[in-house]
Amino acid sequence: MFDKILIANRGEIALRVLRACKELGIPTVAVHSTADEDAMHVRLADESVCIGPPPAKDSYLNIPALLAACEITGADAVHPGYGFLSENARFAEILGEHNVHFIGPRPEHIRLMGDKIAAKRAAQGLGIPVVPGSDGGVASDADAFRLARDIGFPLMLKAAAGGGGRGMKVIRAEHEMAGGLALTRAEAQAAFGDDTVYLEKYLEQPRHIEIQVLGDGKGRAIHLGERDCSLQRRHQKVWEEGPSPALNTAARDDIGAVVAKAMRDIKYLGVGTVEFLYEDGKFSFIEMNTRIQVEHPVTEMITDIDLVVEQIRVAAGNDLTLTQDNVKFHGHAIECRINAENPVSFRPSPGKIVHYHPPGGLGVRVDSAVYHGYAIPPFYDSLVGKLIVHGKTRSECLMRLRRALDEFVVDGIETTIPLFRALAQEKDIIDGDYHIHWLEEFLARGALKE
Ligand code: ADP
Repeated sequence: MFDKILIANRGEIALRVLRACKELGIPTVAVHSTADEDAMHVRLADESVCIGPPPAKDSYLNIPALLAACEITGADAVHPGYGFLSENARFAEILGEHNVHFIGPRPEHIRLMGDKIAAKRAAQGLGIPVVPGSDGGVASDADAFRLARDIGFPLMLKAAAGGGGRGMKVIRAEHEMAGGLALTRAEAQAAFGDDTVYLEKYLEQPRHIEIQVLGDGKGRAIHLGERDCSLQRRHQKVWEEGPSPALNTAARDDIGAVVAKAMRDIKYLGVGTVEFLYEDGKFSFIEMNTRIQVEHPVTEMITDIDLVVEQIRVAAGNDLTLTQDNVKFHGHAIECRINAENPVSFRPSPGKIVHYHPPGGLGVRVDSAVYHGYAIPPFYDSLVGKLIVHGKTRSECLMRLRRALDEFVVDGIETTIPLFRALAQEKDIIDGDYHIHWLEEFLARGALKE
């Protein structure tokens, strides 16, 4: 096992990783920017190192500073959390060159899945169903027009290097193509430094269903069921749940088996998520994330498996001891991503939390790094915390969610808690009858007032 783990992240995920390390008996090192001196992960870690000024590029993304922190503290492994350097293959390689373990997949798999075109090709080669589209990037506008006629409208222009819901454009008709191509290429170049664009059939009302995987890099791999992340705003997940209200056991077992076999075939190491759009009973691969995800607690609540502990174990070279038969699903879990934002305009609302009272009780989990008197800095994402609720059935889970949301007090800043209170009362949500555009349509109706 590792001697000491440096956590190259902040906020709730830094705390989440720290908890797993504590339970494994592994000492931890927190790193932080000057804006995060008072952060909870710094307080709870065994050691901490300041790695730079507030902007992430100078601190949490500062590879030389992170290497120096490993050197000073003697950390022999780095957990990247999500975001920041978690899907940076070069970072994983550099750590390796300095004899520090990266807690994540091998660099070649991070690189493969980070290029959406290569990922899609690889998925197809592994027998995973994909969204119909261009085979690779489009070379020219003429090429794009020809392919668009084959695929048919509406279609989606996607940046090969895209992520975080950016670098995507829906094209409804041929006359929108030229402008759309120019815009998507320019945006992709500016945001990702790569203007490669590809085409994909646009699915009108699919659900977003993703499969959690875990592998030991030696050919053992299992799946841990699905999460339904269809409730999104600007292609960003807002509410996640498992099991999906749209799947039955047979459908889950089928897609899970395909994905787990693919992970065995590539000898995947660590945790990962294979994301699909699901429409008319068909799964279509969109991408794979090669890291722990924000919504991983949903899976933990319905399987009782600590994904971060397992991730650390396999990264340290241990065999995967869990088998597919060990994974038993029970009950239902829902996660709400609570942001420091106005719940109607989604304007960021950083500042000081003057009262904080998280909910508790049976089946309620709050993953957060804020506390009474904590000031949310304006430099990073706006996630205040995640409320995860478990129940024996989906209806018990919803009942418990409403109860927990009623208890939740975060004063001094605006949060998206009122949005979740409204969602938990909506008939379509209660019926589990929603798709990836449902939330935007709900918001556009002005259902929530400021
Ligand atoms: P990112 O890496 O930016 O998260 P994804 O490829 O995972 O991008 O897509 C994010 C979201 O965008 C999906 O969950 C879905 O809502 C929407 N989306 C992506 N591809 C399509 C498509 N072909 N048709 C319809 N919606 C799509």
